Amino acid sequence: MTASPANEPFHGLGCNSCGARLNVPPDERTARCPYCASPNIVMRPRADGEDPTFAVGFVLPDNVARERARKWIRGAWFSPGAFLRSDVTAIRGVYVPAYMFTAEAHVKYTVSIGENYVVIETYTTTDSKGRLVTRTRTKTVTEWRGLSGQWASYIDDVFVTASKGLHNTELEAIEPFDTRALKRYSPKLLSGWIAEDPSMTATQCLELARAEAVGQIGHRLSDHMPGDRHRGLKYSTQLVHEDLELILLPIWILAIKYDDESPLVRLLINGQTGALVGQPPRSWIKITVAVLAVLAAIALTVMLGTRGVL
Ligand SMILES: [Zn+2]
Repeated sequence: MTASPANEPFHGLGCNSCGARLNVPPDERTARCPYCASPNIVMRPRADGEDPTFAVGFVLPDNVARERARKWIRGAWFSPGAFLRSDVTAIRGVYVPAYMFTAEAHVKYTVSIGENYVVIETYTTTDSKGRLVTRTRTKTVTEWRGLSGQWASYIDDVFVTASKGLHNTELEAIEPFDTRALKRYSPKLLSGWIAEDPSMTATQCLELARAEAVGQIGHRLSDHMPGDRHRGLKYSTQLVHEDLELILLPIWILAIKYDDESPLVRLLINGQTGALVGQPPRSWIKITVAVLAVLAAIALTVMLGTRGVL
């Protein structure tokens, strides 16, 4: 994002803990970093850099996001009490920077294709009276043949994070985003929301995106294979007409630090589809008590059963 003059709709904040560089609306009095819940945030000038090309807008309103977060916390039975009392009002909608990668993939492959067919075979055995008899049974046999060919596919839904604060696997866990709802970026679109500046370079993200695209091709190619089964699929991919665009994705983030000793717990909700990812902490005391209660119930049942009470 390039710094713009007087009517600047944001002020810049930097988190000294996780390194996030955030642009925050003027009325947002954030005392903690929305990524890591650290209070160690400082004012900083806006970063000079590339403007995003597109953005996917928020669909999920903040009351719905809070309700989802509340349900997620309440559903975590085996979490420590302090976690269950977490405040969901700290949830923030953040426009997270990501790169959208599109390309044409040209693939050459070799594979073994298996076709199943059923044969009837005759065998001899002894029957119940010990006599030798001849019987038939069916058997499925796979015939293998080699196949090689070329295949082309369009890659249009690879996103990789451009934020050091948000790991790519976390982003993958709440994908997909519907790119039909892409809007051309304008600063107005972000009004009232927190937006993060990219902290990863386009070159770093391009490598990640290519790897993800090639992996995706492998899955699609596998689905595309003829026959009943296949094995030994080998392929090489050439990516052409590559395009990498910086975009902003709408994500609700709740960073929970429920006590000083425990690691940070983070809930992410896709601001477009509502898909949710997060791993609530486990309380070993609660789990042990539950296991002991189950064992006691089993022991009691067995005891009463052997005494003939049940
Ligand atoms: Zn932070």
